[in-house]
Amino acid sequence: MSDTAVTPLRIAVIGIGHMGWHVAAHLATAGHQITVCDVAPGVADRWVAEHGGTAAAHPADAVVDCELVVSSLPADRELEAVADGIATFLAKGAVWLDHSTTSAEAARRVAAKVAEHGCVFLDAPVSGGVDGARNGTLTVMVGGDEPTFDRIAPVIAAYGARVVLMGESGAGQLTKMTNQICVVGLCQALAEGLDFAETAGLDVSRVIHVMLQGSSASWQMANRAEKMLAGQYDYGFSTTLMRKDIGLVLEEAQSMNVPLPVTAMVGQMLAEVTAMGGAKWDWCSLMERQRRRRTES
Ligand code: NAD
Repeated sequence: MSDTAVTPLRIAVIGIGHMGWHVAAHLATAGHQITVCDVAPGVADRWVAEHGGTAAAHPADAVVDCELVVSSLPADRELEAVADGIATFLAKGAVWLDHSTTSAEAARRVAAKVAEHGCVFLDAPVSGGVDGARNGTLTVMVGGDEPTFDRIAPVIAAYGARVVLMGESGAGQLTKMTNQICVVGLCQALAEGLDFAETAGLDVSRVIHVMLQGSSASWQMANRAEKMLAGQYDYGFSTTLMRKDIGLVLEEAQSMNVPLPVTAMVGQMLAEVTAMGGAKWDWCSLMERQRRRRTES
């Protein structure tokens, strides 16, 4: 959190889902005037009942007169649909800060579209999950121009513990993709290790305790290993969202001829988790797949 005093702004928040709900709440707590909008019936009204502000039925109604637009949408399709809907209604000079995870290409297209209307778009995907959003400790990776970033970063500090400009438009999304490449194989390796230790008859909680002091320690191990052991997957970052991210990563990598064999393999494994009924489970349910494959063999 930043101690810098921030001038209250009129802010439209579009997409009040798992992440957007908390982002909007932190912005309201920071003293901004919030208008929320979500296509899902009743969501915006529920948010207003809890946090105050205003609900708008359509994104175009939400953004009129707003200095800042913040969005947290599922994927490219929704981002571009919202862009088509609001571009001509944005206030001149408005900034649009997008926390959705999308392709870098979609981010650049939307940036170009809003620039035609005298506005600036920042792609700003996040890491830290729903807990990070709720606790205001997200990592925010931003692509866009520096003066706008400098102006908006103190506002993001209401819910971002680390807010970093990564480069030009699209660089935030490319950084998020790098993050996902680095984490996917790691979670599958954790599933394999835990399954191995369990099958070998070890006290796996004690194994985790020891490993957290050693070279294999990771955020996944610290925050997910016990839940994986307990088979608890009803929370967090869904298999569906991680498969979407892997799809974005593989497409971008292919365009650059970068081989990502482990990422592609874990993508296949997550397709199997989906076929097992785990589309909405946290993606660390790779553990469930691992256990089932062992008992089948
Ligand atoms: P979500 O599905 O819970 O929220 C998205 C919201 O957008 C939904 O409420 C949906 O109704 C709304 N929406 C869709 N189209 C709309 C439109 N045209 N106009 C207005 N609202 C619209 O998803 P989420 O988990 O909050 O994730 C949002 C984004 O953040 C995704 O891109 C995801 O990949 C990324 N992300 C999520 C997490 C996580 O842990 N959930 C972590 C990091 C990044």
